[in-house]
Amino acid sequence: MHDAIVIGGGPAGLQAALTLGRTHRDVLLLDAGRYRNDPADAMHNVIGHDGDTPAAFRAAARRDVARYATVTVRDVEVQKVRVVDADARDHQGFEVSTADGTESARRLLLATGVVDELPPTPGVAELFGTVAAHCPYCHGHEYAGTRVGILGAGPHVGHTSGLMARVASSLTVFTDGAELTEELRATLDVRRADVVTEPVARVEPRTLDGGHPGARVVLDDGSAVEVGGLMVAPKQRQAAPFAEQLGLDLRDSGAVAIDAFGRTSLPGVFAAGDLAHSADFPMAVSSVLAAAAAGQIAAASLGADLLAAGL
Ligand SMILES: Cc1cc2nc3c(=O)[nH]c(=O)nc-3n(C[C@H](O)[C@H](O)[C@H](O)COP(=O)(O)OP(=O)(O)OC[C@H]3O[C@@H](n4cnc5c(N)ncnc54)[C@H](O)[C@@H]3O)c2cc1C
Repeated sequence: MHDAIVIGGGPAGLQAALTLGRTHRDVLLLDAGRYRNDPADAMHNVIGHDGDTPAAFRAAARRDVARYATVTVRDVEVQKVRVVDADARDHQGFEVSTADGTESARRLLLATGVVDELPPTPGVAELFGTVAAHCPYCHGHEYAGTRVGILGAGPHVGHTSGLMARVASSLTVFTDGAELTEELRATLDVRRADVVTEPVARVEPRTLDGGHPGARVVLDDGSAVEVGGLMVAPKQRQAAPFAEQLGLDLRDSGAVAIDAFGRTSLPGVFAAGDLAHSADFPMAVSSVLAAAAAGQIAAASLGADLLAAGL
């Protein structure tokens, strides 16, 4: 019976394991090896690691965790989690099944992240993480001085155009055949953004004059616009089925409902990182540092919960 099983070895899970390891808690971290920022060639907006590859960041985090003898990291996919009766001193425990067998823990910390569902436009998936991006704080500065495209007509267009207007030489919004609201049109006028309503046929990689990596947004009428970056708005869904298996409360965002301490609706189960959403924020906050910070808070709160149970 481990003190805790952490499922997920991204920034949230690795930081949680480190925090628990610091007080010599017996922790098992299980990692399927699929990370949200896998498509990205570099990671930004992470102080001390700005521009590092995500893999280098995780390798450094794993080296940190490896210094703590009570923490075990195993590269294996978890298939199922369930609540079981724990030892007599505690209210409950958890069983976690993998292809290697079953492990038990007094507490569970979910850090399994989300999966991005990209717009179906051909070519976007191939460019996502380099020339196409969803977050100006992660990939925005890299497109500086070029025409930047924004794909879609939803509310993200207002926010993204505001952030990118400061960075790009010009903006083009590709609504892909959809209508913009009057309010959004007025906002885009103020930001001097071009609006293209013709449906988008595909997006192709293209090196711009001057050698900047970019893309050609090809429209249904055969014309094309060259951009140095294309902002898109993927939808997120849970990467793992554990919230469903445990019957955890979700928020309207689809993320696991947590409180400020990373506690879910089920006692003994904590959650941190992209998969979780605290009521303090209008949406699930997702970034490397936010995930790591949430992992630290959830782990410390898990430690306090064990102490409160006399463990
Ligand atoms: C293209 C792209 C680029 C990005 N760039 C940046 C950036 O530059 N800067 C930044 O701050 N943020 C960036 N982000 C956001 C960042 O990747 C996430 O906010 C961060 O990775 C969230 O960390 P996490 O630990 O919650 O989840 P993840 O990093 O996604 O980790 C999830 C973990 O859960 C594990 N897992 C899932 N299911 C199972 C299972 N069944 N069994 C075992 N393990 C499982 C996975 O293997 C993985 O270890 C980017 C996102 C994308 C999509």
